[in-house]
Amino acid sequence: MSKKIQAIRGMNDLLPADSNIWSFLDSTINNLMLSYGYKYCRTPNVEATETFSRAIGEVTDIVEKEMYTWKDNNGDSLTLRPEGTAGVVRMMIEHNLPREGIQKVFYNGPMFRHERPQKGRYRQFHQVGAEVFGASDAKIDAELISVTDSLWKSLEISAQLEINSLGSAESRESYRETLTKYFNDHKAKLDEDSLRRLTTNPLRILDSKNSDLEDLISNAPKMIDCLDNDSNNHFNALKKYLDQLKIPYKVNPKLVRGLDYYNLTVFEWVSNELGSQGTICGGGRYDGLVEKMGGNPTPAIGFAMGLERIALLIHDKSNQLIAKRPHLYFVSMGESAHIESMKLSKKILEVLPNITITNDISMGTLKSQMKKADKSDADFAMILGEEELANRVISIKPLKGQGVQQSIKLEGIIQHLQEIL
Ligand code: ATP
Ligand code: MG
Repeated sequence: MSKKIQAIRGMNDLLPADSNIWSFLDSTINNLMLSYGYKYCRTPNVEATETFSRAIGEVTDIVEKEMYTWKDNNGDSLTLRPEGTAGVVRMMIEHNLPREGIQKVFYNGPMFRHERPQKGRYRQFHQVGAEVFGASDAKIDAELISVTDSLWKSLEISAQLEINSLGSAESRESYRETLTKYFNDHKAKLDEDSLRRLTTNPLRILDSKNSDLEDLISNAPKMIDCLDNDSNNHFNALKKYLDQLKIPYKVNPKLVRGLDYYNLTVFEWVSNELGSQGTICGGGRYDGLVEKMGGNPTPAIGFAMGLERIALLIHDKSNQLIAKRPHLYFVSMGESAHIESMKLSKKILEVLPNITITNDISMGTLKSQMKKADKSDADFAMILGEEELANRVISIKPLKGQGVQQSIKLEGIIQHLQEIL
């Protein structure tokens, strides 16, 4: 026997037994985004490396060590997308979309990061993200947060909202100086990564996951205390909207997010049921990014949520959350009944597209087909033999203890199914 081939570590198959959670998540989120007026879009899984290095920032975990990058046959540097915003911004600019007015879009797809695989952290994972271009008011920041809040409610997930403001580009510059001075004064306590970031990107030190730096980071000057007037007003407006929407939040001055492009509002939703992989959604404003990527200055904001982590959270209650499709198991005996069962299934499904019919293909005896029907999760067996066919009837047998077997006229079958399903 030849050697078996295995999937790459951290890149998982979605097995048929688990796929109903994912279809449910996809359709729930799709519906929610559409209902708030967001339009679906899709960008390629592969982009020029520069799309990401320029957008995300050279001195970030993602660009420094997590990207899958290679040279294609022409010598061009390509990268598997590690996140969705950079590609959407590239798309907006390339097709001149912000010129047509405010753009509200969402995407859903795989992302790739070379990280250490563990529960809730994979090398191929899936995100749904939303982005809004052309709106600078805090009202849209609040709407985006409100959409995610509605999602947690409909999925019965409990998550805590943390918000912070990174201020304007100018106020961030003076904060950067204050912060550099602070960390310079405590240089001896910094680790290797932080020492490097002290000169390249000191804000990144605040994002460090090294617990030895916890106290030092907690005592560092806070961006939130250095906001200029406009940034303060924006943050206060956001808080007011959230209060009015009755969405509780915690201001977390240490929240800086792992990507370079953010300004003003940043936020994260954290669940305490997932250990250290507790962030299920993160987002923020990135007013400077469109211009940095070669477009006209355009305010923008977005979020991305990790579907694997959300799937983990709803796994145990998926039976309550996900409505089961009514399921019929079609048992037929004899050539004419096989043909009739296929014709009838087709007719029924044209009228009742939201049910499932398993048409038995084992061609076994009545007894063996019924055994399969009982083992399946079907609600009813429909039985069609030579005798039924001769009498133009079909037998409907409940499989879950709901009453007795009935004989129904063929022409009345659809109406009968509509009544019992
Ligand atoms: P973390 O701090 O957990 O590494 P992040 O800040 O790198 O998260 P973002 O880039 O903000 O994450 O991505 C948004 C969301 O995507 C995260 O909140 C998380 O739910 C999910 N996510 C990020 N990286 C992974 C991964 N490697 N595997 C699974 N989900 C992930
Ligand atoms: Mg990360």
